[in-house]
Amino acid sequence: MFDFLYTGEQLRLRDEARAFTKWVPKEMILDMDAEKIQFPHEYLKEAGKRNLLGIRIAKKYGGRGLGWIEDGIVAEEVGVASYSLACLWGVGADIVCEAICEFGSEELRQAVVVPLLKGDVYAAECLTEPRGGSDFFGAATTARRDGDDWIISGQKRFIVGAEGADWFLVYAVTDPSAPPHKRMTCFMVPRGKGVESKYIYGLMGVRGGGAGRLIMTDVRVPERYALNGINGGFDVFQRMMIPERLGTATMTIGSVRPAIEIATRYTTMRKAFGFPIMNFQAVGFKVADSVMLLDACRSLAYTTARAADSGTVHAGRLRRMVSESKKFITESCWTIANNCMQVMGGIGYTSVYPLERIVRDIRLSMIWVGTNEIMQYIIQNEWYKEYHKVLSKEDVRDVEMDALGADLSEEKVYE
Ligand SMILES: Cc1cc2nc3c(=O)[nH]c(=O)nc-3n(C[C@H](O)[C@H](O)[C@H](O)COP(=O)(O)OP(=O)(O)OC[C@H]3O[C@@H](n4cnc5c(N)ncnc54)[C@H](O)[C@@H]3O)c2cc1C
Repeated sequence: MFDFLYTGEQLRLRDEARAFTKWVPKEMILDMDAEKIQFPHEYLKEAGKRNLLGIRIAKKYGGRGLGWIEDGIVAEEVGVASYSLACLWGVGADIVCEAICEFGSEELRQAVVVPLLKGDVYAAECLTEPRGGSDFFGAATTARRDGDDWIISGQKRFIVGAEGADWFLVYAVTDPSAPPHKRMTCFMVPRGKGVESKYIYGLMGVRGGGAGRLIMTDVRVPERYALNGINGGFDVFQRMMIPERLGTATMTIGSVRPAIEIATRYTTMRKAFGFPIMNFQAVGFKVADSVMLLDACRSLAYTTARAADSGTVHAGRLRRMVSESKKFITESCWTIANNCMQVMGGIGYTSVYPLERIVRDIRLSMIWVGTNEIMQYIIQNEWYKEYHKVLSKEDVRDVEMDALGADLSEEKVYE
């Protein structure tokens, strides 16, 4: 994000994350993209060794015990090496570990969080089903009680890390007759009898991160593996929106940053009609617009991270800010990546530069963890609620009345 806003400690953390990103072997990135690697155990192991997993998770479980600003700083640097690696980095240590620490038992924290933050095990987050991802409450995966256990059956798809995961955070319907918000339970499901993952997708980008289908056939889990109790899945889902979406925003900033750096170098050196192409406004302005958008993304991410850290921002407003960040930042980064590819001409479209991989990879950001259309829906919802509940009651000037015809109430027709 922005160096000048950071403390010395935050800058040191950024440098640690940069050193980790420099460590990532080029072969790992290329082999993942070529799907010669289906799940990069080595990467997570190294991240764990460097204590760079679970930035916001308490130190007693192996995390850093820091806040959202620090999480954003590390996510940006992690995103630089590869979007696929950043997705894996975020899902296990940022999302699933937070769910367990916030809503799970001490037993689960010891069994999943502690080894996961060392890079020894992995946990995937499983919401999306073949019949739909946006319609979360329409889930068809079910769990039925059997004594002290629950028997889960159903399928999830497009699950990052499904191939390498030892644990799965799974939402299932436990009370079909209840209203949507009260019918779901979030279970931690260990890989075992009845659990099968299939690595089947030909993905456009973010390859090599184990994204696959999860098939659960009569999987028995004890009730104590439910996070937030039976039928308490909605609260977990609501809470996870923050790490899913703010995390996506910050790591996307990191993944697109190299595109600007590469395009800047290229347009400084590449000549056409006798001049470096950066001198042509059509080129230089695209780079300028990209830098401007990246700074705007960082500003929004930083502000939202501060809002999340403060603990004082109303949940609805925070949800709006997080959704705005996810939508604005991922769409801006998409524009940036395309601008950068455009100013490099034909060579930008080849594998001589990593621009084409960055473009393929970050396209996911507008789709996953809730599509940007769903973000729009949340922003709309939260804005209207906030306006009617809070903002319209604030003691501020009523500018609507600063019009010549403001008193013509018979002209103010609403029905
Ligand atoms: C590479 C990859 C990795 C992924 N990783 C994970 C993961 O780890 N875990 C996981 O659970 N999921 C994961 N996903 C799934 C992802 O989150 C979903 O694909 C996404 O939420 C959309 O769901 P869907 O594909 O079922 O599309 P649908 O829900 O069918 O949506 C199709 C289109 O309709 C629009 N739409 C739907 N409902 C509305 C509405 N009410 N208003 C406006 N527009 C609407 C959507 O915006 C979209 O444009 C991943 C997906 C991919 C491709």
